[in-house]
Amino acid sequence: MATIELEHIRKEYGNDIAIEDLNLDIQDGEFVTLVGPSGCGKSTTIETIAGLTKPTSGTVSIGDRDVTKLPPKDRGIAMVFQNIALFPHKDVYDNISFGLQLRKFEKEEIDKRVEKAAETVQLNGMLDRMPSEMSGGQRQRVAIARAIVRQPDAFLMDEPLANLDAELRVHMRTQLQRIHDELDTTIVYVTHDQAQAMTMSDRIAVINDGDLQQFAPPLECYNEP
Ligand code: ADP
Ligand code: ADP
Repeated sequence: MATIELEHIRKEYGNDIAIEDLNLDIQDGEFVTLVGPSGCGKSTTIETIAGLTKPTSGTVSIGDRDVTKLPPKDRGIAMVFQNIALFPHKDVYDNISFGLQLRKFEKEEIDKRVEKAAETVQLNGMLDRMPSEMSGGQRQRVAIARAIVRQPDAFLMDEPLANLDAELRVHMRTQLQRIHDELDTTIVYVTHDQAQAMTMSDRIAVINDGDLQQFAPPLECYNEP
């Protein structure tokens, strides 16, 4: 678990200002959803936290560390994208454990962590499946397991359910809430789907034109007459 704090984040692309002056203070273990119209700066914000986008100015802190200048791999975070890219020629075990193998973890530790991550996303018993033998929801859960197996302090997700059909999206909503409860981790979640934001979030950050318009629990955000 970790707090995430953005202070005076500004991001320019050439002459375009994507984010002008964003301040965002996320608590330990909170599930925060970023919502807002397409192009308002949601992805830029989450990528700034991840370190995939370098802000023009401003600072990012995770826990009590200023990570503004740290590369993504040293920030203690994991990220899941809309377009999950599993290795098609690797089975579920190898997909989940790839990052740990790369970092030369002991086989025993890898087995233990993969088992636990698979259990969390309810894919235990499917470790020897190939991605092509799985449904969209199952593949998305492999991507989530691959992220949580690293035991990150914070977990960032950019429209992770956007490519799933409506029924599966509802199903995954419940799953993500359960995963959040179980992991006790800080989650920052980007979506333009109001139903997802309403059901899953502790607080919703409403972004418009690179500005934070509202940052409040779901009922306060959508309670206007
Ligand atoms: P959202 O995720 O809310 O759709 P983005 O963060 O992707 O919004 O984009 C915010 C603004 O920044 C948009 O005006 C977009 O066109 C611009 N933008 C994003 N990425 C780039 C880029 N790589 N180059 C130029 N402009 C970009
Ligand atoms: P989930 O909600 O976990 O994604 P689904 O309800 O989509 O699961 O799928 C139920 C079952 O159908 C699963 O056991 C899965 O293996 C199988 N299945 C679904 N889609 C596919 C597919 N494209 N290829 C192979 N098996 C599939």
